[in-house]
Amino acid sequence: MMKKIKTTCVYCGTGCQVYLKVQDGKVVATKPVRDGFNPGHGKLCIKGWNMHEFINSPERLTDPMIRKNGSLKKVSWDEAIQYVVDNFKKIMAEDPGNNRILACLSSAKCTNEENYVMQKFARAVLYTNNVDHCARLCHASTVAGLGSAFGSGAMTNSIDEIADADVIYITGSNTNEQHPLIGTQILEALDKGAKLVVADPRTIPLSELAVEHGGIAMTHRPGTDVALLNAIMNYIISNDLYDKNFVENYCENFEGLKKVVSEMTPAKAAKICGVNEKDIIEAAKIIADAKACSLIYSMGITQHSTGTDNVKSCANLQMLCGNVGKWATGVNPLRGQQNVQGACDLGALANVFSSYQKVVEADKREKMAKIWGIDASKMDDKVGLTVVEMMNAAVDGTLKCLWVMGENPMVSDPDINHVRKGLKKVFLVVQDIFMTPTAELADVILPAASFAETEGTFTNTERRVQMVRKAIEPIGNTKPDWEIVGLIAKAMGYNGLIYSHPKEIMDEINKTTPIYGGITWDRLEKNENGFQWPCPNPSHPGTIYLHKGGAFSRGKGFFNECPFIEPAELPDDEYPLILSTGRILWHFHTGTMSRRSPTLNARVREGYVEISKEDANDLGILDGEKVKVKSRRGEIATKAKITHRVKKGLIFIPFHFKEAAANVLTNPALDPIAKIPEYKVCAARIEKL
Ligand code: SF4
Repeated sequence: MMKKIKTTCVYCGTGCQVYLKVQDGKVVATKPVRDGFNPGHGKLCIKGWNMHEFINSPERLTDPMIRKNGSLKKVSWDEAIQYVVDNFKKIMAEDPGNNRILACLSSAKCTNEENYVMQKFARAVLYTNNVDHCARLCHASTVAGLGSAFGSGAMTNSIDEIADADVIYITGSNTNEQHPLIGTQILEALDKGAKLVVADPRTIPLSELAVEHGGIAMTHRPGTDVALLNAIMNYIISNDLYDKNFVENYCENFEGLKKVVSEMTPAKAAKICGVNEKDIIEAAKIIADAKACSLIYSMGITQHSTGTDNVKSCANLQMLCGNVGKWATGVNPLRGQQNVQGACDLGALANVFSSYQKVVEADKREKMAKIWGIDASKMDDKVGLTVVEMMNAAVDGTLKCLWVMGENPMVSDPDINHVRKGLKKVFLVVQDIFMTPTAELADVILPAASFAETEGTFTNTERRVQMVRKAIEPIGNTKPDWEIVGLIAKAMGYNGLIYSHPKEIMDEINKTTPIYGGITWDRLEKNENGFQWPCPNPSHPGTIYLHKGGAFSRGKGFFNECPFIEPAELPDDEYPLILSTGRILWHFHTGTMSRRSPTLNARVREGYVEISKEDANDLGILDGEKVKVKSRRGEIATKAKITHRVKKGLIFIPFHFKEAAANVLTNPALDPIAKIPEYKVCAARIEKL
C-alpha cells in the first residue's frame, strides 16, 4: 500500500507544497500538491521532484559516534550524550562565568521548533548569546538594512503578487535557477506585459528576457550596486519623477538621501559600474513610470562588505517611487534555504531572541527568563559571536567548544583553510544527517532525523509558516534535532527543554514570539495555506504584505544615506580577475543533500569555473580544461567553462562542490553592521594546470 504525506519542500525558500509517497517504510517518490494551496502553484522544480532521493541514501548517518584514538567509533546515545555533557561541563568549569568559550550553530535546514530549542539551549543552559546560523552568511544584511529602513527585515510582499507587477527590478538574483517557482511568477508578469530591469554582473537568463521584452539588462561590476542604485535615484530626483506624496507623508530624511545621491550622476556611475549611461537612465525612467514596481534581490546584493548599504539602497529606491505598502510592489529579498527566514524569526542569531527582540534589552531577557524558568541575572547581556567571528575565536583559542546542528562550515564559510584550523582546535560536536566535511573533523557525531522523519514548521521567503509532516520513522538510530537538544539539556540539569512533541514547542513560541503569537499548531493543522507573519493573535488572519498604506513598522520609512564604497579586495597585477560565487539550478547549498540525489548529480557531477572567451583566449585555456584558481587565501583545481555569461575580467564558481570548494578562495572581510562576509567579490587568478 502506498500512502502520501503532505509536507513542505526541503530545498529553497519558495516553500512549495509536496506529497511524499511512502511504500514499505521508505519515501519512494515526490509529487507536487495540486489539490490545495501551494506557493509553487501545483508545480515543482527539478530539485523538488527529486527530494526523496537523499532520504533513504545508504550514506545516512545512523548511529552516534565518538572520536577514539583518532577515529570515529559507533557508540550508544547514552554514551554520546554523557561524553558531550562531560566536555561541556569541563570546559565551563575551567573558565567559570566566561560566556564566550562555548558556541552553537543552528540551521536554516531545521524546523522552526528545532531552531527555537537550539537558541534556547545556548541562552538558558550555556548562558551565552554565541548562537548563530548561516543566515549570517546570506541575509544578515537584509535583516539589518530593511530593519533600519522599514522596521522589519523580511520580504515585504508575497510571491503571488509578483505576477501583477508592471515593472520588476531584479538585482543579484538568478531567480529562474535559484528560486525556479518564483521565476515562473516573473514569466507570468512578462506574459501580462510587464517590463524587467535586470542588474547582475553575469548575463543570466532573465537578462536576455528583459531585453526581448523591451526592458533593460545591465551587467555591472560586482560590488558597485550602491553606485548603480544611487545613480538611478539621482536621475529620478533630478527629473522630478519621484512620488512626492509618499516621500513627504510616509518617509523621513529625504534631504539626506538627496544630498548623497546628488554625488552619483548616471555618467559617473556608468564609469564605476562598467555599464552604459543611457541604460541607467532608461532603467530609471522605467522604474519611475511603473504603477507597481516589485524589487527582487538575493545574495548578489547581500553578500558584500557593503551588504547592508546595498539593501538600504534598494529600500531607498522603492520608497522614493512610492513602491512600498501596496500590492505587487515592495522590497523582496528571496531567502535561499527552505527555513532561513524561520531560523532568523526564532532567534538563531547572536543579537536577537525570537521575533527580533534584542538580547541587550533587559526587559526582553527578563521576559524570556520568566517563561524559560531561569535566573535573568545569569543571562548573557551582550551580543554573541557571529558565524565568522566564531571561526576566528576558534583559531585564536578563545572559543573552546562548538556544537554544529545541520550546518557545514567546511564548505559554506569563507576562507575554508582558516575554518579548518579553527575547527581542529575546538571540542567539536556535529549533529547532521550525512558525514559532511565538517562532520569528518568532529569529536562527537549525533545522527539526526531528516525533514521526512520529523514534524514541525518551516517559514518560507514570504513569511508563510507551513507544516512539515512526518512521512516515515527516523532511519537507523537517528533522532529529531529537537529531541537531541532536549536530551543534552536534561543531562546538563535543565528540564525546560523536554517536550513530547513539536506542538508543545510551538505553544511556547506563541508566548515568546509576538510575530508568531497567533500561529498556533491547531490553526496550522486546520488551515492548509499556513499563516504569514506578523500574526499577533489567534483571530488574526496573517499579513500578505507589510507596511500597508505607508504605515511602516518603525513609524515612517527612513532614507539611509549610503555613499558608494569599493569592495574590500580589488583586482591587481598579481590577482587580475574578480571572482564571484553562487548557485546553480541542479544543486543546493553545500551539496549535502542534492549531491546524494542520483538524478541531480547526473546533471552536474563536479564543480567548474566560468570564464569569458576573451580571458580564456588570453590565458590559452580551452573549454573543459583543468585549471588552477588562486586567491590570497588558497587555491583549487577545477574545470574551465568558457561562457558568454561572464564578461572579461570576471570569473564565477558555483559553491556546491567540496572537491573544488569556492570558499577556499573567498574573502572573509565583513560588513561592519551585519557581519556578512564578502563572498561576491575577491581578487583571483587562473593558471593552466
Ligand atoms: Fe522546492 Fe524551491 Fe523547487 Fe519549489 S522552487 S520545488 S521550494 S526547490
